[in-house]
Amino acid sequence: MPKKIAVLSGDGIGPEIISEAIKVLNYLNTDMDLGLVCDQALIGGAAYDAFGTPLPQQTLNLCKNADAVLLGAVGGPKWEGLAHAVRPERGLLGVRSELALFSNLRPAFLYPQLVDASTLKPDVVSGLDLMIVRELTGGIYFGEPRGIRTLENGEKQGFNTKIYNESEIRRIAHSAYRIAQKRSKKLCSVDKANVLECTELWRNVVTEVGKEYPDVQLSHMYVDNAAMQLVRAPKQFDVIVTTNMFGDILSDTAAMLTGSIGMLPSAALDANAKGMYEPIHGSAPDIAGKGIANPLATILSVAMMLRYTFNEAEAADRIQKAVNDALDANVRTADIYSEGMVKVSTSGMGDAVLNALRVS
Ligand code: NAD
Repeated sequence: MPKKIAVLSGDGIGPEIISEAIKVLNYLNTDMDLGLVCDQALIGGAAYDAFGTPLPQQTLNLCKNADAVLLGAVGGPKWEGLAHAVRPERGLLGVRSELALFSNLRPAFLYPQLVDASTLKPDVVSGLDLMIVRELTGGIYFGEPRGIRTLENGEKQGFNTKIYNESEIRRIAHSAYRIAQKRSKKLCSVDKANVLECTELWRNVVTEVGKEYPDVQLSHMYVDNAAMQLVRAPKQFDVIVTTNMFGDILSDTAAMLTGSIGMLPSAALDANAKGMYEPIHGSAPDIAGKGIANPLATILSVAMMLRYTFNEAEAADRIQKAVNDALDANVRTADIYSEGMVKVSTSGMGDAVLNALRVS
């Protein structure tokens, strides 16, 4: 059975970075006989322009029938005036919810060649390699009741509900333990169990699920301390698992430790490790069409896809090493350029990774 990938380029720099990622994927597919088959479809603003909706039924069907989805990015000023229901971002949220992608993987990895791009001191961040597993479909962002109401005294009151069922915690915990097993088998669960009953349950369930993963060493940390530790001594972490809102905040902090938005991939997985893989950055309309976008986050998203959905660790390792070799060869796109380096275009960077793969 071929392994199917739905490729959604999206808007802005999306098509430019996706075509470099596909170049790399096609090479490895042939070289390692991976049996992958790619099909393209429209999403976001491009889909709205063609079909009047950011998530056409044929795109959704393609995603549902695929084993993995590779996404560029969506959105841009052209579509900002549209009604919320047909904004490009709705296409993305639609795929996430239709495919029940509840486990968001946000790695923060710092290539040694780019250590100066971080705002933190080199000794604090060099060697940084951590993974945040964020619950993506529950918690306070979705909890009911929610809203803004007027009290009897006429004062307005805003309210949201942080709510997690045991089963929601259990499935994200399983996902995180399995990720930890593929890395250095250390998992830190982040909560606020001293104040929030909801995360007291979170802590209990994560601990209980841990009995099924005796090879993984579990620790717990309160979110305020975790935020502090992430900028004080981030290398103490390997895998962090946390709730939707805490993960939203902590994963952006962790991403910024690396200093370069064009370098970081991400994934959103379901219970069977089917996933959508995408760079963490947006469609960068300010540089779209100029051929200067950094394709490495998207290329590294392909590596994540091979590792987590297709269990092709060797192929994933080869991509990561090829990216490292390309950086070692001193090629840089504009966003990570520094003096003395060789400035290359989007396709120049794709070619550099491909060349490194060919000799690996
Ligand atoms: P952005 O991430 O697109 O861009 C922020 C800055 O980083 C820009 O200066 C951009 O040029 C630069 N940048 C981003 N990716 C880069 C790359 N690969 N190489 C070099 N430089 C890069 O964020 P934004 O400007 O806030 O948003 C632009 C559009 O993207 C908006 O419509 C937003 O809604 C959308 N967006 C989409 C996603 C997604 O598709 N997952 C995520 C975030 C934002």
